[in-house]
Order: sequence, then structure tokens, then C-alpha cells
Amino acid sequence: MFHALITGANRGLGLEHARQLLERGWHVTAAVRDPDAASELKALPQGEGKLDVVAYDATDFESPKRLAAEIDGPIDLLFANAGMMAPETRSFGSAAGEAMALEFQVNAIAPLALVEAFADKVATSEMKVVALQSSRMGSIADNGSGGGYGYRGSKAALNAIGKSLSHDLADRGIVVLILHPGWVRTDMGGPNGQLTVQESVEGQLDLIARAYGNPAMSGRFFHVSGQDLPW
Ligand code: NAP
Repeated sequence: MFHALITGANRGLGLEHARQLLERGWHVTAAVRDPDAASELKALPQGEGKLDVVAYDATDFESPKRLAAEIDGPIDLLFANAGMMAPETRSFGSAAGEAMALEFQVNAIAPLALVEAFADKVATSEMKVVALQSSRMGSIADNGSGGGYGYRGSKAALNAIGKSLSHDLADRGIVVLILHPGWVRTDMGGPNGQLTVQESVEGQLDLIARAYGNPAMSGRFFHVSGQDLPW
């Protein structure tokens, strides 16, 4: 049985990943800020080899190390999905500040802290896949409209980190995917998004299945459709 660890699994894309992986018979460890408040997640089948809900806060760099010490056995899929978009950092004029530092911490540095804490568990698994939930907004080549300083900057930083991880973890057989889920109808994506969470997660899980034993996919930035995105 495969075992996935997914951050930000109490709502949106992370919740749907947990749901679909459980349906496929995976063991899912869902890492959320507030396990007590994660009622939709906790309604999914819990127990031995099904769903475990654990506490994780992307603003606390010790959080991944504590989790890695708590969780037994290998992790086949490590999915750094939790992310944020701060409205204060959207427009030129007052973007730089604490909110932007927080965005970089949650969107770029925390995923790296997670991979650093869990690399051994991924390397000893069967599947050996790390997925980083990035965004097309982090593509510099695709930036035709400006703004979005904190979100664009932090996702571009995540992309650079993901590329380095793909090189540094290659000799341990780990495949690192950098993913854009599409524009999805979640709290972050809003009601006008082009995809449902079901559609986006089905596409992302197809990509992850293709990445199993496929080092040629490591360090690439994929649209949910499977196309490579420009950096
Ligand atoms: P969402 O519904 O807003 O969910 C965001 C998730 O991240 C929540 O579970 C949230 O937990 C968690 N999170 C935020 N800050 C955290 C922190 N400090 N520590 C731990 N968890 C934290 O957004 P979503 O659309 O599902 O987004 C998931 C990922 O996809 C993000 O990385 C986002 O950037 C990316 N993405 C989304 C879209 C889109 O169109 N939706 C497009 C491109 C990329 P709480 O519930 O506790 O706040």
C-alpha cells in the first residue's frame, strides 16, 4: 500500500487529494493547521492504513521535523500543497513588508523544510515522488500583467527550489514534480476558476502516477494538462 503525506489537506485541493487517494486505497497522512477544526477531512475513512490527521504549521520550521519523528515508515508521495496568497502584496506601492515575508515562508521555504525533513522517508519508499504545488503565476516567462508581487515571487522561488531538489535528490531515486493545478474553484481560486477540484486532482494524480520510476519528469514544471510550462 502506498503512503502519502499531504499538507493543507483540510480544504480545497489538498482535501480532494486526500479523498481521491483514499478512494484508490492509499494510506493518507493529512497535515493541517488545526486538526480539531478539520471536520470535512475527518469525515473521510480514518484508521489503520486509511487516513491519519496530524498537526502541521508552515510558519513553524520545526513542524516538519516533529512530524517526521512521529510518522512511521516510508512516504511514497510527499505533497507540499499548503499555500497562501496575501491580498496586501498584490499591487505595486505597498507590497513589500511582513505579509510578503510570510508568503515566502509558507509558499517557498516551508516546502523545502518539509522535503529536508522527509527526504529519507521518501528515498526508502517504493514510489519516491515529491510534488510541489506551485502556480503558473510563478512563471516569469508567463507574466504578462505584472502585480502579484508576493504570490508570484514566492512561487517563482518555489520553482527554483524544486529544480535544485530535483538535482540534489536524483541519486536517491527521488522524482520532484513542480505542478500547476490549473485555475481551480477553491477559496483561493474563487468561483470563476476553470476547473473543479475533482478535475484538477484527477489530472495531478495522473501526472504523479506517470512520475513513478520516471526520472525524466523530475525538475519539470507541469500544467495539470501534462504540458510543460515555461519558467
Ligand atoms: P485554499 O482552499 O485556500 O487552501 C489553502 C490550504 O493551505 C489550506 O488547507 C490552508 O489551511 C493551508 N495553509 C495556508 N497557510 C498555511 C500554514 N501557515 N500552515 C499550514 N497550512 C496552511 O487553496 P487551494 O486552491 O486549495 O490551494 C492549494 C495550493 O494550490 C496552494 O499552494 C496554491 O497556491 C496552489 N494553487 C491554487 C490554484 C487555484 O486556482 N486554486 C492555482 C494555482 C496554485 P487553513 O485552512 O488552516 O488556512
